[in-house]
Amino acid sequence: MWACDAGLTSTIVESYAGAGPLFVNTLQTFLAAHCALVGDDRWGADAVDSVLKDPNYDFIVVGAGSAGAVVANRLSENPEWRVLLIEAGGNPTLATEAPQLFPANIKTKENWGYRTMPQSGNCLAYDSGCAWPRGKVLGGSSSINAMFYVRGNKEDYNEWAAAGNTGWSYDDVLPLFKKSEKFYKPTPESDVYHGTDGYLYVEHTNNVLEIERIVINATAELGIKVLDDICGETQMGVTRSLSTTQNGERFSTARAFLNPIKDRSNLDVLKNAYVTKLVFKDGTNEVTGVLISKDGKEILAHARKEVILSGGCINTPQLLMLSGIGPKKHLEDLNIKVRADLPVGENLQDHLYVPVFFKAKSNSNAGTINNVLQGVGDFMLQRTGIFADLSPNRVVTFVNTTDDNASTPDIQVHHLIIEANGTNIADFFDLHGNTEEVQLKFKEINKDHRVILAAVVLLRPQSRGKLLLNSTDPNVLPELYSNYFQKQEDVDTIIRGMRHITKLADTEAFKKNGLTLDWLDLDDCKAYRDKLSDQFLECIARHLTFSLYHPVGTAKMGLVSDATSVVDPELRVRGVDNLRVIDASIMPVITRGNTNAPTIMIAEKGAELLKKTWIDEAVFKSHREKYNILKQRWSG
Ligand SMILES: Cc1cc2nc3c(=O)[nH]c(=O)nc-3n(C[C@H](O)[C@H](O)[C@H](O)COP(=O)(O)OP(=O)(O)OC[C@H]3O[C@@H](n4cnc5c(N)ncnc54)[C@H](O)[C@@H]3O)c2cc1C
Repeated sequence: MWACDAGLTSTIVESYAGAGPLFVNTLQTFLAAHCALVGDDRWGADAVDSVLKDPNYDFIVVGAGSAGAVVANRLSENPEWRVLLIEAGGNPTLATEAPQLFPANIKTKENWGYRTMPQSGNCLAYDSGCAWPRGKVLGGSSSINAMFYVRGNKEDYNEWAAAGNTGWSYDDVLPLFKKSEKFYKPTPESDVYHGTDGYLYVEHTNNVLEIERIVINATAELGIKVLDDICGETQMGVTRSLSTTQNGERFSTARAFLNPIKDRSNLDVLKNAYVTKLVFKDGTNEVTGVLISKDGKEILAHARKEVILSGGCINTPQLLMLSGIGPKKHLEDLNIKVRADLPVGENLQDHLYVPVFFKAKSNSNAGTINNVLQGVGDFMLQRTGIFADLSPNRVVTFVNTTDDNASTPDIQVHHLIIEANGTNIADFFDLHGNTEEVQLKFKEINKDHRVILAAVVLLRPQSRGKLLLNSTDPNVLPELYSNYFQKQEDVDTIIRGMRHITKLADTEAFKKNGLTLDWLDLDDCKAYRDKLSDQFLECIARHLTFSLYHPVGTAKMGLVSDATSVVDPELRVRGVDNLRVIDASIMPVITRGNTNAPTIMIAEKGAELLKKTWIDEAVFKSHREKYNILKQRWSG
């Protein structure tokens, strides 16, 4: 990190001495601010020397993402356990830490760069499939995500429990959400739903921007309730979301769960290291360690107790399959020795969204280069301005499009604000790999107009995708079949959602502010003249399909009797010893909301299950030893 090298920075500062003290002071403050944000010392050193010296651990956690960072922290709370956390990426960067730069990460090395396989029923306005970004950095996807803190619906967890997953009902998991959380600002009412003693900063800001108020007022005119807390009693309504940010900065799980314990001596964090295979005891299905590729070398690390897979919904099933755990036929086709015939990679679910655009004439300069530069300065020096925080994009709505009184939503709406002639985010479509036609047609809408991109999200997809290996080479990306819109019910729901959201254009709040509905006039959809017809809306949905970046479910949790499950309710992989999956892959059914907070909860739960197993085991062992000693004495 050059800017954090004391010698180098003083040389730079000195070389600008001629520019005067004000400039030099500003430069110094700028460099110090940069270091405070992304200096390597924030994250602790790479543990390669320690691993090479002694590669024997009690637990090995693969992946330092939303889940893995939490699991490693909680396990290493026990000073008697030696824990290794292995992450394929490196330290966070400026683009990961500045909240509003989050879309930019799609084109950096901090993203694995996955795309869905091109299919005839979805993602048609792309050069090649939809973008499925995933974080490859400490904090994983929590370091590149949009920072919305949403838990979903109480029924999500009650449904998991009703399917036989004992211990996963809402009442069971609420204490785990609270355990992680350092909620800002608590009130007497927030005590029921929020915790204040955890590592994860969750922000609740009262600062409502004018454009956010317009969206909230317009949504309320449609009869939708205005909420204060999206994680409170009910989820049904519109509000400004809570966020994993603190004073303008991102609060990833790396920041929350790894930074405060970077000097914990029983936790080693190995960075830029890729786990390529699980290692088994000869002739058994007992996992004893992992094979790691780092800096062109292979390292073998051993786990005395368990290996925990927290590589996320794409990498976890890939690693399982490469190690012989997956669908028998698929593995045999690739000449992989089958250890356990399990439906790994199936049950893939994601939240897709379709954008609906509203625009209002604007002569604001917010999207100009000058303003962007000003934003960089504001952020670096004060953590304010257009790159800080989540505003003006905080507003979220949850509705049920078939039943106004329902307590579960079928549609979520995010509202993304794109300033007139926006340069900061206008290449959003380029970043996602949309066709040139989309990019040009969006620029037409955005020309001298501020745009609200209302992302209409399908919350409970009925279609199921799947993931297949493309090769036995771990460096070849797997094939991702989203199967978006395979089920007609999903098409019907998104059409209802899109039509519902177009009604915002009829509200006083939108009319008063000159906000009108507009569409990307795609050539393929031109045949359908009536813009509210099912045919036109379906055409737009199948072309402008976007992922909300929430793939889950590829190592499904369920009862052992459930042939579609991969792990049991204690997250142990069926038919294999000493191996658990603890990440978003285990969700049997996707939650009705963003998936980061639920994944962190899964990690808290997984860590408690691990502790229970191994502490009970230790107690049992010590009882057994005492009993044996006494037995010997008695018999002697
Ligand atoms: C762009 C984007 C925006 C999002 N916005 C939001 C949002 O606003 N709110 C929300 O709630 N959710 C959001 N999400 C989703 C949420 O962040 C994810 O659901 C969650 O982070 C998944 O956590 P995970 O632990 O399962 O996987 P990840 O967080 O992806 O972690 C997996 C980690 O494992 C590492 N890894 C994988 N394989 C290996 C291997 N073999 N060896 C070593 N390391 C490995 C990866 O590099 C990664 O760091 C977003 C996601 C993205 C990508």
